Amino acid sequence: MAGEPQADCLFCKIVAGEVPATVVRETETTLAFRDINPQAPTHVLVIPKAHYADAAALAAGAPQLAADMLREAGEVAADDKTAESGYRIVFNTGSGAGQTVFHAHAHVLGGRGLEWPPG
Ligand code: 5GP
Repeated sequence: MAGEPQADCLFCKIVAGEVPATVVRETETTLAFRDINPQAPTHVLVIPKAHYADAAALAAGAPQLAADMLREAGEVAADDKTAESGYRIVFNTGSGAGQTVFHAHAHVLGGRGLEWPPG
């Protein structure tokens, strides 16, 4: 069921403390931790603690939670001093777009110049 923890989900295991992660922020509804394979000096994943497969499912099923994530993404950028120079919030949605973990997450990338269009 949407929102319920999934036994085979890596990010649900991080929320449960079963897989370690470098947590930088936590709220009642969200968790933010550093990506294990960083693509920029700041590369933090912001996730809802509840399980939704991707950003679209999250926005449809729990719009307030999607808003919580966006607010936390901004806080992560401010904490890492990337807010002034600019940062990017990315939701890879679907395997064709590079999504590999099917628990909604926002990548917060910053601390270096970011090109457009992305690869
Ligand atoms: P996606 O490709 O689904 O948009 O993003 C998944 C992200 O999760 C990738 O950037 C990948 O490096 C990161 N990741 C995969 N496994 C782990 C892990 O065990 N710990 C952490 N902190 N990040 C992970």
